[in-house]
Amino acid sequence: MLAAGVAGEKAEPASSARGVGAYLGLAVGDALGATVEFMTPREIRHQYGVHREIIGGGWLRLRPGQVTDDTEMTLALGRSVLRRGGVDPADAAEVFSEWMRSKPVDIGHTVRRGIAHYRRTRTPEVAPDEQNAGNGACMRCLPIALLCRHEDEQALIRASRAQAHITHNNPVADAGTETVLRMLVTALNGGGSDRMRLHAERLVARYPVFRFDRRPVENPSGWIVETLQAVFQALYGHDSFEEILVDVVNRGGDADTTGAIAGMLAGALYGIHAIPGRWSRKLDPEVRRSCEGQAIELLALAGRGSA
Ligand code: MN
Ligand code: MN
Repeated sequence: MLAAGVAGEKAEPASSARGVGAYLGLAVGDALGATVEFMTPREIRHQYGVHREIIGGGWLRLRPGQVTDDTEMTLALGRSVLRRGGVDPADAAEVFSEWMRSKPVDIGHTVRRGIAHYRRTRTPEVAPDEQNAGNGACMRCLPIALLCRHEDEQALIRASRAQAHITHNNPVADAGTETVLRMLVTALNGGGSDRMRLHAERLVARYPVFRFDRRPVENPSGWIVETLQAVFQALYGHDSFEEILVDVVNRGGDADTTGAIAGMLAGALYGIHAIPGRWSRKLDPEVRRSCEGQAIELLALAGRGSA
């Protein structure tokens, strides 16, 4: 269990370091980005110069180290996956519904609508929606990557859509989320940045709207296309966890979500030791413990029977 990287190179993070790195990366990116969510890059420069510390505040008036729906929904999904031993959409919808009842600090429109639909119909799947390709299913997808890291492509896609369609049922959102999952799985299994990039290139080949080699995306919205363009530009613009996160959140817009997604990808790639200690120490201790615990338990669950 939790064997070291197959490559055997000392510098390569082990799968446990990558799994925990992805979880803490997500939470750190959410907490860092939330301060500047919905600000423009210009407003951020004016107020902070370069925003690079976890200080809370923002439109949600957070405590330093407090996280938002991105991390909370990920942890909710992970709890359901762990208690059911896999993705059970009805159980996951139930956990999301409990989370919504707990009066979360923020919640997206599409997520709220999806959970309300589940409460009304007991169906953990919304109708297909060609218009609305929001990033709300992608931001919480991380447990699926750890769960399915030894599974084949079809199993990964099935698990991804089962959780995504509780609130978001759109082909472009699915394609983006599945790409992030493939990149995460590649990193968790010891793959490097170039191999992760192949999945992003494949997404662009299928949906050219995702092209990210043009001008830098500023103010990325909650549309999965802009979200992932900003994330990929930051991920491939730097080779350290810290610089990737600083780049992406200083673009403003949906900064907690770009921070969360860039954080999970960079955390999976570079491992837990690449996350600045001043950031992980700032995280809410309860959130930090939950992230670490869930990562280890999901890796163990997925490791069973496939060694
Ligand atoms: Mn959020
Ligand atoms: Mn957000």
